Amino acid sequence: MFSTNSSLLQQTLSQGRLFVVSGPSGVGKGTMLSRLYDRVSAIEPSISATTRDPRPGEVEGVNYYFVTQEAFENDIEKDFFLEYALYGPNYYGTPLRSLEEKISLNTDVLLEIEVQGARLVRQKRPGAVLIYIQPPTMDELERRLRGRRTETEESIAKRLEIAQGEQAAILEYDYLITNDDLETSTEQLIGIVLAERCRIRPDERKPE
Ligand code: ADP
Ligand code: 5GP
Repeated sequence: MFSTNSSLLQQTLSQGRLFVVSGPSGVGKGTMLSRLYDRVSAIEPSISATTRDPRPGEVEGVNYYFVTQEAFENDIEKDFFLEYALYGPNYYGTPLRSLEEKISLNTDVLLEIEVQGARLVRQKRPGAVLIYIQPPTMDELERRLRGRRTETEESIAKRLEIAQGEQAAILEYDYLITNDDLETSTEQLIGIVLAERCRIRPDERKPE
């Protein structure tokens, strides 16, 4: 048996990793991630808080913690979030404590967040692995967003506008997946997670 008594190696072997997945609304993040969770163990989503209204079928504490703007701003004051951002008219944020608990139990945690939040995570946790998912074309993105039937025309227009702006941030990410064929892109995502679990020095990946 090899000796594993260096503290760096101990830390590497005993702590969960942080994964961040971003990409435009409607690209298929949720669909790919549910397949990832079905097929890979010891990785869990971070449940964000948001001030937006629940969509039909969304469950409190499963999809999000749905809170009022006042409660969210209170939590900002109390340093409750690893990061938070405004997306359109609503706040979204990553609660810090449950994330820390999972990581300390050697469970990987995956944050599905937009680019401003991803940037903050990169600054605060240089070892986090940032994955961007893009659509094959903007027309296909619009088709998927409409096909999901969850957004108003106004919200679709806003989300497509944000998607155009977010494209510029792709180079800040570690990996890029194009979600064209769902099975292929899911396999790529799973491949990244499994490979990153074998990385020896996750904390040494520094921002430029
Ligand atoms: P996001 O979580 O990124 O907002 P969703 O997972 O809700 O996106 O997907 C948006 C819509 O696109 C859903 O109706 C989903 O079934 C569909 N979709 C996801 N991936 C693909 C794909 N590779 N090809 C075609 N449709 C897809
Ligand atoms: P939706 O309203 O479609 O669920 O999410 C809108 C956007 O907010 C998506 O890009 C999603 O990834 C992002 N998002 C969800 N939770 C968080 C969070 O905790 N922090 C940040 N910065 N973005 C989030």
